[in-house]
Amino acid sequence: MICREMFRSGAWVKAESVIRGFFERAQGLGARLQLRFGSMFRPREAMHIEAPAPATIESFRNVAKWASIIAIAAGYHVFLGWVFDIDILKSPWASFSTMKANSAVCSMLAGISLYFLQTQRPVAPEHKNLVVRLCACLAAMIALLSLAEHFFGLDLGLDKLMFPETATRGGSVHPGRMALMSAFGFSMIGIGLLLLDSPRHYVVADTLALISAAVSLLAVASYMYQAKAFEGQMPLYGAVVIFLISVGMLCARADRGVMAKVSSNSFGGIMARRLLPATFLIPLILGWLQHRGQRSGWYGAEPGLALFAVANVLVFLSVVWWGVNSLHRMDTKRRQAERELQETAAKLARSNADLEQFAYVASHDLKEPLRAISGSIQILQERYKDKLERSADEVIRHTVDGATRMQTLIDDLLTYSRLTTREAPLEATDCSQIVQEVLANLRSAIDESKAIITYDALPVVKADSTQLLQVFQNLIGNAIKYRSQRTPRIHIGVEDKGNEWLLGISDNGIGIAPQYADRIFRIFQRLHTRKEYSGTGIGLAVCKKIVERHGGRIWLESELEEGSTFFFTLPKL
Ligand code: ADP
Repeated sequence: MICREMFRSGAWVKAESVIRGFFERAQGLGARLQLRFGSMFRPREAMHIEAPAPATIESFRNVAKWASIIAIAAGYHVFLGWVFDIDILKSPWASFSTMKANSAVCSMLAGISLYFLQTQRPVAPEHKNLVVRLCACLAAMIALLSLAEHFFGLDLGLDKLMFPETATRGGSVHPGRMALMSAFGFSMIGIGLLLLDSPRHYVVADTLALISAAVSLLAVASYMYQAKAFEGQMPLYGAVVIFLISVGMLCARADRGVMAKVSSNSFGGIMARRLLPATFLIPLILGWLQHRGQRSGWYGAEPGLALFAVANVLVFLSVVWWGVNSLHRMDTKRRQAERELQETAAKLARSNADLEQFAYVASHDLKEPLRAISGSIQILQERYKDKLERSADEVIRHTVDGATRMQTLIDDLLTYSRLTTREAPLEATDCSQIVQEVLANLRSAIDESKAIITYDALPVVKADSTQLLQVFQNLIGNAIKYRSQRTPRIHIGVEDKGNEWLLGISDNGIGIAPQYADRIFRIFQRLHTRKEYSGTGIGLAVCKKIVERHGGRIWLESELEEGSTFFFTLPKL
């Protein structure tokens, strides 16, 4: 009843419109943020960023490794400081506040988690994953509970769980409690470490690492400039550790997310790697110098600020100048390499064309004298058959055989060289029709061998129909020729591979030993003698050339005496 009243009342309608407005605005903001910053986190491939060199990834991994080792060592010796109550171990800088025992534990846990994360390549064993998650989870829990204590004024007993603090340095309000900014930093790190390898949430992990790095840098800067505002919020030691772990997290997975552009092998990546350390160090050092000068009474606050700004301008100008020079040098080298590549490609194309022309002319011109030779020998054979000695008959027979073989070789060579000189445009070609034509051409061989040939519903592809017919005819012809004792069973299969068709011609013939899988596609390479099987060893070389001209690949999968499958791909229409 009351609810119904509320529903009807104007207040409810107003509240609803406010809530809806809030959500719409939040969605709009989200969309704008996605548009503005989404590209920072898209996968490297989607951004077309050049892959990093393995050595670069290794260097980044090393940064992560050392960051984790330092974090573990720092946490460990602070922890020892608490165990034996030695102040110098709790904070190496006597005038600054001590790192709490909880922070030391978080530092060790985060360090261990990061250490195992950076050693995972490419897939981590399950026990390592467990250590990574367990340590990250514990660190996040301790930090989040400390944060809750700060915000809600709670006392969860966490502060004195391990050590009731005897003396505090730096004016800690709650003895033993993890400092507010440390708790914030370790929460970000703990959650980030948990999400770092999640394919959907690594963006969040990167963002959390960036936030904790920024917060810890703020604390470091405030110590450097003795800014009272941050005193006691994050001990200097803790700030350095949190900064190192955050940077280590980004470096542990440098090939994706926000680091993809930094680690990339492109000019941009190389420049980013050279400039990033300067971007961190220059303002910090210049700020510190300005602060020291001001404190020593060399100048007042305003002139100091002016000096700081001008020094920044000058230093960054020289950094930019240096960067531009490096880019210019790299660009000149790249253009030179490009020119050389173009020249080599042109030379290669010329020599290829010359070779093809040579093969064509040679085989074409050889045909004429060869025809004359074999014609004359055949006349000799017919006229003087049984009129000469037996050995003379034998010599004539061998000569005729040799001439015939040479003719076949020259014909094959001509076919091979004509593949490029007589190529037709690629048009829509129905593979089923081509296969039917091939089966008609091979009718007598099929009948003689009693081969059983089956095929899937074959696609229409973009091809030169005459050349595609040559491919199918060579492959099906071979499948019949190289049959075993069994009845030849040949199947033509097809598979849709997205942007291309995969065709496979399988037989149950004699098969080919896997070590010859590449060799047989080379011109004139045969695995059998002429006595065993006729042929010149050019058929598969022709197939390879045709398939490659169509933008596809051809390969073989076979087992000796088991049969073979010749696969080739053709791009879709
Ligand atoms: P040719 O058949 O004229 O010898 P190819 O280039 O067509 O030349 O084949 C090269 C070699 O590959 C052949 O000599 C044969 O040893 C082997 N080969 C080709 N296809 C098959 C097949 N389906 N089964 C077994 N071996 C084959």
